[in-house]
Amino acid sequence: MSKKKDPSQRQGHSAIKKHDDTGDDTGLDLTPLDAKNLPDHCPDTNPDNITPHKKIRRARVKTVGKKDSHSLYKKQEKIYPKRVNGFFRSVKWALLTIMLLVYYITPWIRWDRGEGFPDQAILLDFMHNRFYFFAIEIWPQEIYYITGILVLSALGLFLVTSVGGRIWCGYACPQTIWTDLFVYVERFFEGDRNARMKLDKGKWTFNKFNRKLGKHITWLFIGLITGGAWVLYFVDAPTLFKQITTLTAPFSAYIWIISLTISTYVMAGFAREQVCTYMCPWPRLQSVMMDDDTFNIMYKDDRGEPRAPHKKGESWDGRGDCIQCRQCVVVCPMGIDIRDGLQLECIGCALCSDACDDVMEQIGRPKGLISYDTLANFESRKLGKQEKTKIIRTRTVIYSLLICLISSGLIYSLLNRSELSFNVIRDRNPLFVTLSSGDIRNGYKIKILNKSSEDHQYIINISGIDNMGIKVIGLKTKTENNMPLVMIKREEVRTLKIYLSAPIKDIKEHSTDIKFTVKQLNGAALDTENSSFKAPSS
Ligand code: SF4
Ligand code: SF4
Repeated sequence: MSKKKDPSQRQGHSAIKKHDDTGDDTGLDLTPLDAKNLPDHCPDTNPDNITPHKKIRRARVKTVGKKDSHSLYKKQEKIYPKRVNGFFRSVKWALLTIMLLVYYITPWIRWDRGEGFPDQAILLDFMHNRFYFFAIEIWPQEIYYITGILVLSALGLFLVTSVGGRIWCGYACPQTIWTDLFVYVERFFEGDRNARMKLDKGKWTFNKFNRKLGKHITWLFIGLITGGAWVLYFVDAPTLFKQITTLTAPFSAYIWIISLTISTYVMAGFAREQVCTYMCPWPRLQSVMMDDDTFNIMYKDDRGEPRAPHKKGESWDGRGDCIQCRQCVVVCPMGIDIRDGLQLECIGCALCSDACDDVMEQIGRPKGLISYDTLANFESRKLGKQEKTKIIRTRTVIYSLLICLISSGLIYSLLNRSELSFNVIRDRNPLFVTLSSGDIRNGYKIKILNKSSEDHQYIINISGIDNMGIKVIGLKTKTENNMPLVMIKREEVRTLKIYLSAPIKDIKEHSTDIKFTVKQLNGAALDTENSSFKAPSS
């Protein structure tokens, strides 16, 4: 065991003003609870190196993402985040529980749509080209709703980022949620930071094998139910679940489940911070949404510096509040030091804030040395000005207006959506036919879609040329006014071939605009479409 003292400690009080963040070493941290577990070679077992505040030990930890260690290729260094309690950790546990429950339970929520229709509240039915979201049913023709929802989600993310920085990354991103869950499982089987490090460095024993096996089996099980829940969003959940358990499900379902099990296992179990740092484009994009008034988790260097170890009872005059304990670093899931400033690797999880608040409480200093703050406030404090919170800014106003505009448009469109739609395609070859009577005939294909949950009859009407004859192939039913009447079952599309003929004397131009109207018999649904009637040039 090394007896060498930490340089800052050797210099005693004279070292107080010295910046002493070497950030190098064995990567071990000391806490009273885990001190017994420390490996023999750890230099910090020397009590002289411990910041002499009750319960606070100085952690010696390597910052994985240190600014000066950035390079094009870097081997992954395993991070052992230490457990931390506090306000933000509690918020994260609460959100994690809610979001996982929503994810796993949603496919099982039922919604009655009548006989013959799926009763799953949220169903992405690609097989029948239909998306169900409770009372809303989206057809392929209405894909603009999906586009609208995606645009709204993106704008919501822009707004949240411009106000609160990487809130999405730190609290709601699936990568963060599943990684948190996997770290919790890891801790359950292998213990907290020091115990895990000791286990990894130690020889393979029966105990180590058992702990690792338990962890990996649980990880794979979580991956399996994650993948299993995902496929339930695409097919009726109870039916598919029964098929899966009796091994009668479609082959593609197993492929999806296995792929998602493996990707969850790898991403949350092994890749972890690598996904956020190297694979996700969001950290690189978000800087354009932030400005000086954006809140981010920050170390208040104006309060914390000059940092130095501190002994109980010593004066705080002429020094900062940071006592160099590095508890903020050992809890960081990204392995970085928040005191290095805003960094691409920082996911804004605020766990360093919880760790530091705990330290501040124990040493009797005000909490919030690491907290949500803005660059503008840093500047104000430097200039001795009043701090200001500026949420309403040009960019937040623009994002909010766009969100209101698009969501109003979507809601209006949903409330006024017709249960009928149709389209007309004019024959291109031949453009027209001259009949033996001298009349001109054009051919059309018309597709009528009944989006309602009941069967309906529809009247087809065409206007634009006087004395026009309408012939619908295969249709015998007509109204009293001799208009074609077509029956279409609920949620069905019917394609009809129509021939229009007009006397040559009534045709004024080579191409005449005409209008198709389809109207529900005894109902309000109505839709129109423009087309043209071609004739020989006179
Ligand atoms: S910022 Fe807080 S937690 Fe981090 S080293 Fe300083 S005192 Fe310790
Ligand atoms: S520096 Fe703090 S906020 Fe950033 S990832 Fe680490 S613990 Fe989370």
